[in-house]
Amino acid sequence: MRAQRVVDAAYRMRHHALNMGEAQGQGYVGQALGAADMLATVYVDQLNYRADDPHWEGRDRFLLSTGHYAIGLYAALAEAGIIDVEELESYGSDDSRLPMSGMASYTPGMEISGGSLGHGLTVAVGMALGLRHQGSPARVINFLSDGELDEGSTWEAAMGAAHHRLGNLIAMVDINALQADGPTAGVLRTEPVVDKWAACGWDAARIDGNDVEQLLDAFDRIGDSGGDRPSVILCDTRIGRGVPLLENREKAHFMRIDADEWQICRDQLTEGFRGVSA
Ligand SMILES: [Mg+2]
Repeated sequence: MRAQRVVDAAYRMRHHALNMGEAQGQGYVGQALGAADMLATVYVDQLNYRADDPHWEGRDRFLLSTGHYAIGLYAALAEAGIIDVEELESYGSDDSRLPMSGMASYTPGMEISGGSLGHGLTVAVGMALGLRHQGSPARVINFLSDGELDEGSTWEAAMGAAHHRLGNLIAMVDINALQADGPTAGVLRTEPVVDKWAACGWDAARIDGNDVEQLLDAFDRIGDSGGDRPSVILCDTRIGRGVPLLENREKAHFMRIDADEWQICRDQLTEGFRGVSA
């Protein structure tokens, strides 16, 4: 079944993220867990790519604007067969192709070096324009965070995408309600986000980003209004999703997890997954 394939992949990706995090003892594990359903939907169900040829010209482009989510993307790239699962063990270590913040020159399948937040969508607009100019049917999917909605460059890109009628551009926003400086609502109020994207000329849908059925449905609806408008899927997620110990952690942006807690995390994830798939 379509949704079950994604759910199963997201489960494996969460385990990968915990294993990578354990190797370093810390990291952006909460984001990887929270965004696993979004990333699994993209890589298992949506993206057109060739695992053995990451630079294939006809590929859809997935741009991770949030470089610190790299741990989550590495899990997805392993699930997609673009990198080996065994290579995940090298995460964050010297000479690894998997640095803690995503860098395009290091990692196969990593399209841009993210991390200077607020730039991903601008690059995505340029890529979408270029692909259309070349007559390519490939799509550009840009993953960004709710913290990046504080950035003026994001909204310049949003207006530009609508102006150029980029129906081949999709944005996914991980609304986990948190950013480095604290709760998003307290740093800079970005609501109502659906209205803002719609006012910029985008087809905007807001869903539960930890619900695979809703994610698949949102992708299925893209193009319903004629195909010459960019689309954004606004995804409410829970940081640490799937591991109650981490879902309720106060300092959740950059998590430090004690050595004896990692196995508890894995056990909680496994237990919760049994409940989901039963
Ligand atoms: Mg956030």
